[in-house]
Order: sequence, then C-alpha cells, then structure tokens
Amino acid sequence: MIQLKNIEKVYRTTTIETVALNKVNLSVEKGEFVSIMGPSGCGKSTLLNIIGLLDEPSKGQVEIDGKQTNGLSDAQLASFRNQTLGFIFQSFHLINDLPVLDNVELPLLYRNVSSAERRRLASEALEKVGLSNRMKHYPNQLSGGQKQRVAIARAIVGQPEIILADEPTGNLDSNMGNEIMDILLTLNQRDNATIVMVTHDENMAKRTHRLIRLFDGSQVS
Ligand code: ADP
Ligand code: ADP
Repeated sequence: MIQLKNIEKVYRTTTIETVALNKVNLSVEKGEFVSIMGPSGCGKSTLLNIIGLLDEPSKGQVEIDGKQTNGLSDAQLASFRNQTLGFIFQSFHLINDLPVLDNVELPLLYRNVSSAERRRLASEALEKVGLSNRMKHYPNQLSGGQKQRVAIARAIVGQPEIILADEPTGNLDSNMGNEIMDILLTLNQRDNATIVMVTHDENMAKRTHRLIRLFDGSQVS
C-alpha cells in the first residue's frame, strides 16, 4: 500500500544543509497499523509528510496505493491525496466557526458529491467515532478527546485507503488517548484501514502491529 525506496530529504538554506532523512526504505501492507517513534528532530514529521504527499523527497521513489507519485503535478497530487489519504494531527486543525458536521464534510467539498450525500457520509463518519449527538456543536464546545474524534471523522469521511496520524494522542491525557487509540484500532480491524502513526508514547506504539524507530534521519529498527 505504501512503498518508499531510498528516500533522502535534505533541507537547504543559504548557510545550512540538514539531512532530515537518509536512505529510508519502508513498505507498509494494506491493513497494517504501523507506528513511528524517535527523538525530536529525527525526521518523523518529514517522513509522514512525504508519505502524505505534502512534501517531496530530494531523492528516492514514493509509491502510494500502487501509484508512482514522482512527477505528478501539484493538481494531480492534491486530487490523489484527497481520494487516498486521511490526515489526523496533534492539534486537531478544526475550523472553529463551523459546526462539527460541516467540519467533517470539508474533504468532500473538493469532490463531486451532492450536499445531501455529504450530510449522509459525514453523519455516518460521526457515528463511527461515537459523536452522533454532537453534530450541531462547535469545536470550542467539545473536549480535546471529542475534538480529535471529530478530526478522525473528517479523516475517514471520504473512505481513504490510508490514514496518517501525527501524534494523534499528544495533546490528550492517557484516558482520552486510549479512547482515540481504540477508535483507530477499530478502523484498522473493522474497515481494514492502513494506518501510519507518529507517536512519542510507547504504550500507544505497543498497540500497533509494527514499530519503526528513526534516529538522525535513518531507520534503526
Ligand atoms: P521530527 O518530526 O522527528 O521532530 P522533523 O521531520 O520535523 O523531525 O525534522 C527533521 C530535521 O529536519 C530536523 O533537524 C529539522 O530541524 C529539519 N527540518 C524540518 N523541516 C525543515 C524545514 N522546513 N527547513 C529546514 N529544516 C527543516
Ligand atoms: P503539531 O502537532 O506539531 O502542532 P501538526 O501535527 O498539527 O503539528 O501538523 C503537522 C504538519 O501538517 C504541519 O507542518 C502543518 O503545517 C501540516 N498541516 C496541518 N494541518 C493540515 C491540513 N489540514 N492539511 C495539510 N497539512 C496540514
């Protein structure tokens, strides 16, 4: 489902060159739930951004859901990203001026989906995360754990093959964090979603199928 070959990422400014990733190879099968750990600055976000087609490697090949993504135009990348990938972030990134249901519908606005169908799909996604009773609330009226559940509903509303999560439990206490992990595990087991998650939390990583450790831009296990 995800194939990275010899990925290098170098950030260059006029004075400094930072090697963020050095010859990283990674293969994730359909239905796998993989976590990525490592110290701050080791390249975790860079790796997730490359898998998520938000950033391009300096060298190496990226294949997502059978498609070689090198050489695609920005518009092609955006459309493919929208169809194939769902994103979850540590800090939720919800739009506070919009009710929960509208937040969840957002990814569908870029597709040719009628408003009635958008409502139906968004309600269904909110049901999956146990928030059917909060559709008309605004994000500020929710707890951190509930906000992250809204963000998960938004990530899954377009039925993506792959979910990418960047420290999804990082802003939550351990109870809420475990609830979020329960939801991700259910999506993985019941809907066969492929999930890649960056985390600092060994306990969360233990609950996934496989742990990848990065150190200084290289994979160490
Ligand atoms: P992590 O997510 O593990 O904390 P990052 O992927 O954010 O690590 O960063 C890896 C390395 O690349 C760090 O040394 C960081 O300072 C550097 N880096 C990340 N983004 C940029 C950027 N946009 N410009 C320059 N250097 C960057
Ligand atoms: P942090 O948790 O460190 O605050 P996030 O996990 O929220 O960072 O975001 C990780 C990266 O993804 C950031 O570089 C951010 O610019 C980018 N990002 C955040 N929201 C979105 C979005 N909705 N779509 C695409 N990229 C995003």
